[in-house]
Amino acid sequence: MSTQTGTAWPEGVIARYVNVGGAPVDVTEYPAESATQAKCGGCNRYDATEWDKGDWCENGARSAEAEARAWAQSHAERCRAMPKPGGVS
Ligand SMILES: [Zn+2]
Repeated sequence: MSTQTGTAWPEGVIARYVNVGGAPVDVTEYPAESATQAKCGGCNRYDATEWDKGDWCENGARSAEAEARAWAQSHAERCRAMPKPGGVS
């Protein structure tokens, strides 16, 4: 069973929230695409934020992270979707 939420995080995941149904909502950085994505493991909705190309190395990435975290947190508070049993790593 995959009821533990404290297991190893997928590569690139920098933050993880848990929705009302118990599914992880992961915030993942994709340096190659200069983007940070928040994705719900329950309903598969996601929100991607591109880093500000102007100063993407530090500030752009951090502000995208803040946006992704905000989306993940507010989504996790409302979403009741459950992950498919055994389908979440
Ligand atoms: Zn969801």
